[in-house]
Amino acid sequence: MLKKDNRFEARLRPGERPVLIVVVDTEEEFSWERPFDRANVDTTSIADQPLMHERVFDRFGIVPMYMCDWPVATTASSVATLRGLMEEGRCEIGTHLHPWVSPPHVEQVSAFNSYAGNLPREVEYEKLRRLTNAIADFSGAPHVLSRQAAMDSANIPPNRSHRSVTASMPAWSHTRRSPMTAAPISGAMTNILSGSRPTDASCSKCR
Ligand SMILES: [Zn+2]
Repeated sequence: MLKKDNRFEARLRPGERPVLIVVVDTEEEFSWERPFDRANVDTTSIADQPLMHERVFDRFGIVPMYMCDWPVATTASSVATLRGLMEEGRCEIGTHLHPWVSPPHVEQVSAFNSYAGNLPREVEYEKLRRLTNAIADFSGAPHVLSRQAAMDSANIPPNRSHRSVTASMPAWSHTRRSPMTAAPISGAMTNILSGSRPTDASCSKCR
C-alpha cells in the first residue's frame, strides 16, 4: 500500500502550472475478483471510448495515452477504434503487458506469473517484444510508449525500442497479492528514467 512517508509534494516555481498526464491501461475485460484466465480476451468496451473523448477529453484538451495489451492490440475492432482516435491526434498509443494473455503462452497462469518481472527473463522479453511489434504495426510508430508498473522489470526490445516508460505505482507494494522475485526497477528502466534512452542502430531516428 502507499505509505504517507513515501510521498512528497511536487515543487513548482511561482507561476508554473502542473502538467496532467492521462495514462489509460487499455486491456481485455475481466474481473479482478476472479483468477487470471487466458480465455478473457473480449475488448468490446473499447468501442465506447470515443464517447469518453466527446464528453471529457476533448472538452479539457486532453490527449490520453492508451497503453494497450495483447487482446486490445490484436483485435480488429479495438484496433480500428484506437487507430481512428490516434489518426485524429486525439490519443497516443503504448504497450501494457498482461503476461497471462500475451504470447508465447509457455508459463502456467497464476497470480505469481501475472507479474511480468516474475517470469524467466527470456519469456518476459519475448512477450514484450511481440506485444511491442503488434502495437508498432497498428500505430505505425517505430518507438512506442510502455506502461510498466514498478514491480515489472523492463526488458527493452532491441529493434523497436520504447520511447519512454511510465511507472505509475512507484511506491506500491504488491506483496500481499503475490511475492515478487524481480528487482523493483530494472537497469533498463533506470536508464530511461535518468534520460539515457536505449537506442536502435538500425533506426535513423536513434542515430
Ligand atoms: Zn493492466
